Amino acid sequence: MNGVAEPWFRWEMDLEGTIQGVGFRPAVHRLAHGAGLHGSVENRSGGVHLVLIGPEHALHRFLEILPDRLPVHARLERVTVTSRTPVAASAGSGFQIRPGTSESVGRISIPPDLVVCAACLAEIMDPGNRRYGYPFTSCTQCGPRCTVLERLPYDRANTSLHRFPLCRECLAEYENPQDRRFHAESTACPVCGPKTVLLNSDGTPRDDQGMGAARRALGAEKILAVRGLGGFQLVVDPLRGDAVQALRRRKGRPHKPLAVIARSLAVVRSLCPLTRPQEDILQHPSGPILVLDLPCLNESGGWGEGVMPTGGPARTAAPRFCWDLLTPDSHTLGIMLPTTPLHHLLFHPLAGDDVPPFDLLVVTSGNRSGEPLCMETQRLKRPWHDWALSLICSCVTTGTSCAAPTTPFVSSRTMGLRSGAVPGAWCLKPCA
Ligand SMILES: [Zn+2]
Ligand SMILES: [Zn+2]
Repeated sequence: MNGVAEPWFRWEMDLEGTIQGVGFRPAVHRLAHGAGLHGSVENRSGGVHLVLIGPEHALHRFLEILPDRLPVHARLERVTVTSRTPVAASAGSGFQIRPGTSESVGRISIPPDLVVCAACLAEIMDPGNRRYGYPFTSCTQCGPRCTVLERLPYDRANTSLHRFPLCRECLAEYENPQDRRFHAESTACPVCGPKTVLLNSDGTPRDDQGMGAARRALGAEKILAVRGLGGFQLVVDPLRGDAVQALRRRKGRPHKPLAVIARSLAVVRSLCPLTRPQEDILQHPSGPILVLDLPCLNESGGWGEGVMPTGGPARTAAPRFCWDLLTPDSHTLGIMLPTTPLHHLLFHPLAGDDVPPFDLLVVTSGNRSGEPLCMETQRLKRPWHDWALSLICSCVTTGTSCAAPTTPFVSSRTMGLRSGAVPGAWCLKPCA
């Protein structure tokens, strides 16, 4: 610059796209901090408001590289610079993530609930981790979004999780720019977050509690009603024909196919050879259902090679699934992988649980056929009070009911929608 100091500017801009609930502000914070820029970023009900202060060339450079540094679930659609003001050099005082405001600036897309990420799953399965076995583990890259959102913008105070103040350790993660839970609005842990409770069919707490008790109920041909952070799901073991038949009777769904969740990709591969695109669909972060042709299933109707679980309690014989009860009038089977920590914990026994891992579980929405998704405990229980079911509930009220199809299948034979999910981002109008 030939000894002449480069002028500094303060730029204010409004950003639109899928940029709330996806770790966007932490990514912006890291990028700005790394570039030596000052300013702030905050969620607003219509998008994200960004203030950048620094040398002009650095501000241009920031906007150039921002699209390449987005978190995996983010989509930046528009950047509108609303003001460029000359300021004195060194006018800034660092870069902050500010609390969100309800000021409306444009159009915002909220992502669907995001499939549990590998890092969170590793914590849940690690006996030495403080989140071992905790079914509501999440971070900036995974966890509930639509189903806990009560109002915009997407800040913890505007989700149903605001009822659970963060404990000291969670707060330290939330405030640490180097932590993957930096400003993770849905974060929680066994100390401060929602808890599960296992209920009898009359709504009273059972004597035995915890995921092990829920898994024992499943293994004993019970229908388990699971209320996670979204609506209810009904779960049965597809090895238990009586349980599947009972589920059909009580749902008023005698013939429609029932979808299953497989413990892992290896389990699905053992049932049916998969193409690469089919594997990609199964592993997509939105957790879609893959519709398979039944004739491709292995003739044994059960285990293929290489999926017998290692470690923990083992099954004594190869299981046989009741395909005829799952898809009585169809030659297809809807299958998906676990999407939430709660799903994974139903499949996998924790320490001290002697129920073997399940390979497949029938999972269907907790509504009668043709009715909307069931969100409330009372609505589930009232019409079906005679069900021989157990309920595992989280003590957190739900925010938004995702518009779920009454059947998980769509016309495509390769890809469907899971109940409780929305395909891609869900556009919401800003608050008036
Ligand atoms: Zn995660
Ligand atoms: Zn905590």
